[in-house]
This record gives sequence, structure tokens and C-alpha cells, in this order.
Amino acid sequence: MKHPDQLPHIALCGSCEQGLLRFMRCNSCTTVLAVCEECELVWLDIAAVKDDPHMPSSSALPKCPACHSKHACWSWLTREETEGSSLVRYMAQPLDPAPGTQVPDNGTPDPEPGSQQPKHRSTGR
Ligand SMILES: [Zn+2]
Ligand SMILES: [Zn+2]
Repeated sequence: MKHPDQLPHIALCGSCEQGLLRFMRCNSCTTVLAVCEECELVWLDIAAVKDDPHMPSSSALPKCPACHSKHACWSWLTREETEGSSLVRYMAQPLDPAPGTQVPDNGTPDPEPGSQQPKHRSTGR
């Protein structure tokens, strides 16, 4: 089973700042490139884009900047494939959940069960 979350990533995309740069192989020329999973921009130089994610992209899917195929076939590299190759040095560590992000902080206290006090309303007559 393959889940996208288990694919290795290189860095956070400096262009859209939403997606992660992943390893992707062009099946036409077998070159491995950095591709953003969100905006689908392609970087030919993985080392350079890891160093500076804000550098201009080389191309965008499905065009391959290495062999200039306009409709290249692409496949994501799995973690196993990456770890078995020299690309492992570009692999980033798993993301740590940054404090203060993704956590809703609305401060609503949960009503505790069993703490409801029955209110007797004696009318006195
Ligand atoms: Zn992106
Ligand atoms: Zn190619």
C-alpha cells in the first residue's frame, strides 16, 4: 500500500508554500526531479532547490525539463526507492508539527459530564 504521506519529500515548496517537493522520475529519460505536489512545478536541480526553495522552477508538469518531453510519464519515488539511491541525501526529515499551527485554539471548555447540577425550583406555594 502506498500513501502520499509516506512519500519522501525534499522541502516545502517555496512557490505555493502549500505543497511539498517530492522526488519524481521522468519515465522518458529516467531523470529524477523535484516536483511540488500542489502546484506541480518542476525543478531539475534537486540540490539547488533544497538549498533555496524559492528559486525559479525549471518547468511544470507534465513537461520534462531534462529531455523536453511535453507529455512525459511521471512516477513518484517511494521512500524505499529514495533510500536505496544517492537521492537519500536530499530527503528531508519528517515534518515536526510546529507549535501553534494546525491546532484550533478557540478556548471553548468542554462541558464536563456529571457536573450538571439539578436545579430545584420550589415555588413555595
Ligand atoms: Zn508548490
Ligand atoms: Zn525526461
